[in-house]
Amino acid sequence: MKTTVYGYPKIGENRELKKVVESYWKGEITKSQLLEKAQEINLNRVKKVLEAGIDIVPSNDFSLYDFVLDTATMFNVIPERFKKIEDSLDLYFAMARGSDDAIACEMTKWFDTNYHYVVPELAGDIKLVKNRPLESYKKIKENLSLETKPVIVGPFTFVYLSKVYRRQEGSILMEMVKAPESEKFEYFLDYFADLYNQVLRQLQDEGVKVVQLDEPAFVLDLSDKEVDLALRTYQKAVEGIDKLDVIVQTYYESLSSYEKLINLPVKGIGLDFVSNTENFENIKRYGFPKDKLLVAGVVSGRDPWKTDLKQAAEFIKSLFDYIPQENIILSNASPLFHLPVSLKPEVGHLSEDLINLLSFADERLEELKLLKQHFTEGIDLPDQNLQNIRDRYKNEEVRKLVSFYKNQEVGRKTPFKERYKKQMDILKLPLFPTTTIGSFPQTQEVRKVRADYKAGRITEKEYKEFIKSQIANVIKLQEELDLDVLVHGEFERTDMVEFFGEKLEGFAFTKNGWVQSYGTRCVRPPIIYGDVSRPNPMTLEEITYAQSLTNRPVKGMLTGPVTILNWSFYRKDIPKEDIAYQIALALRQEVIDLEKAGIKIIQIDEPAFREGLPLKKSKQEHYLNWAVNAFKLSHDTVKDETQIHTHMCYSEFNEIIEYIYKMDADVISIEASRSKGEILGAFEKFNYDHGIGIGVYDIHSPRVPREEEIEEIVRRALRYIDKNLIWINPDCGLKTRDWDETVKSLKNMVSVAKKLREEL
Ligand code: GLN
Ligand code: ZN
Repeated sequence: MKTTVYGYPKIGENRELKKVVESYWKGEITKSQLLEKAQEINLNRVKKVLEAGIDIVPSNDFSLYDFVLDTATMFNVIPERFKKIEDSLDLYFAMARGSDDAIACEMTKWFDTNYHYVVPELAGDIKLVKNRPLESYKKIKENLSLETKPVIVGPFTFVYLSKVYRRQEGSILMEMVKAPESEKFEYFLDYFADLYNQVLRQLQDEGVKVVQLDEPAFVLDLSDKEVDLALRTYQKAVEGIDKLDVIVQTYYESLSSYEKLINLPVKGIGLDFVSNTENFENIKRYGFPKDKLLVAGVVSGRDPWKTDLKQAAEFIKSLFDYIPQENIILSNASPLFHLPVSLKPEVGHLSEDLINLLSFADERLEELKLLKQHFTEGIDLPDQNLQNIRDRYKNEEVRKLVSFYKNQEVGRKTPFKERYKKQMDILKLPLFPTTTIGSFPQTQEVRKVRADYKAGRITEKEYKEFIKSQIANVIKLQEELDLDVLVHGEFERTDMVEFFGEKLEGFAFTKNGWVQSYGTRCVRPPIIYGDVSRPNPMTLEEITYAQSLTNRPVKGMLTGPVTILNWSFYRKDIPKEDIAYQIALALRQEVIDLEKAGIKIIQIDEPAFREGLPLKKSKQEHYLNWAVNAFKLSHDTVKDETQIHTHMCYSEFNEIIEYIYKMDADVISIEASRSKGEILGAFEKFNYDHGIGIGVYDIHSPRVPREEEIEEIVRRALRYIDKNLIWINPDCGLKTRDWDETVKSLKNMVSVAKKLREEL
């Protein structure tokens, strides 16, 4: 029995990679300094894996920005617009981030994780130009005299996640579509099968023993045709490869069409046994090929919880009934880069109990080693008492409430039309009410004062006075701009989830638990370890203060339960929906308090509503149902006259619009400018008849939108939506913008609203 891992974090224990890459972008270091430093960071992580006693150490799993982009550039998949850039490194970064004259490639979420990859655009002269896995293999051998297992995104997943050009119907214009939706899918699979064959042959000629092809797309609901294409792709890709062991690694879910894909013509298959029991059930049902290796994913790469080692050992033992022990390689069940590097910096920061429940990437290496030693050397596994520790964070009262509401119809009783009329009678808003999404620019000063307060450099009183002055300024500004519904500006919040997590019971925050989100951007997800409750009001003070300064309505501003949950690490010992309900109940108390204090509009943001959507279609409905219910539960106590808003930024609404409607918010604000109003089509098709805030300009850019552009988007919306339901707002919060452009943009926005009011 052996061990291996894949996807060990690239960013470095103290985000060293982020720092060097960003200083290269700023021109502070040269290209060779960057490459030298990056190599050092990579070799250090390889050494760490080796020293942890892992038998098969991976290579080619390091990246300066994104591993999908690495794969694209090795095959010369470079959009025409970047080809002018001569330096290959600058070209690489330009594809990821854009350059002066070429917009960046699209970036999107990697499966159901919070990692984002650069979407390959398949066009042009595609060929093998740089065998990265071979180079990485050689470099590590040269430096550490170590045989490694190069890891590459597999051909099926690579093509599956790419976009290809297609001629628009009835036009000469080309548009990009997802590869599987185009008739060129098959063609590109064949084409890449050939290129991968070249890669593998070169590895084989070099004497490489084993290679890992990552195929997470094999866990999606593939059609029969796609499964056949996958098999055919591999037949071609491994032609003539008989001295190099090819391992196909799957993760995040169970293998689709197990009985077919398990027979891929490769030496080994990696399966995830942590996400759920389906892979194991399939092994029991269909068996496992005698001549193949099983890479058994037995420790999580995406949840930060310690593995119950005795339980894992029991499971591994049960595999022996189907697969000879010598054919099993123990591994992580999903890439380790979803976890922070090490738990060490948290010792002394997090409570001892919590430390005893957690395991990050480095600790996973240790777990794998122990599990192997248990079988090969007979060592005893420790008693961990994990459940005993977890039980210390139980809140019986909250659990009782959750089970009560889970069996209860939740949501507001009065139909939207009736409610909306009552609300609008009180609010006395004009046609096309104008508002913003919540945050206003967070200047250097705001961030500094917040940090000073956190570090104890200023008193609570000083801090609160400062926040109040910011609120007063922004209320005055919004009145001057003549916005109709105001916000308090969110100056007290660093992050929309962290802010609430810090005030709720059951959440913990790491000191150094950074996880790569995309490129050099890292996030520190909160850890929900215990039952959630709200000991004290969270937003009341700022919102009521803001409302006291104006006669116009000020929106109460909350982050929704589904978003708080999806942007956190969450526990696995109770169902995810129970946690959503717990958070919803905590928010519900806040909503009650806000309403009592006279707040007439409450916005409950759910930008991550869609993010938790399960990969397998059969599981999506369940998720959407409880997510809708959790949202509704968070506010269904309010009276008809209180208006509930939600906000979702950009989202692919088409497939989920029915559930968006079921959320039954009085007003939902969405992005509409980047997609040129495209998104509204989903709402039209569905006959969506609740209030919609049209996000009329893109806040991700400093550009001030012209009045004509804004007007065009509203006019487009008017084609689809009843004018009495339309609100006008930017497409997201303004916190990353500067004041100057913010004021100018909002001026234009209000002026368009006024013009259209006159006219319509
Ligand atoms: N209310 C939040 C803000 O304005 C919403 C942010 C978001 O949608 N990501 O910042
Ligand atoms: Zn948003």
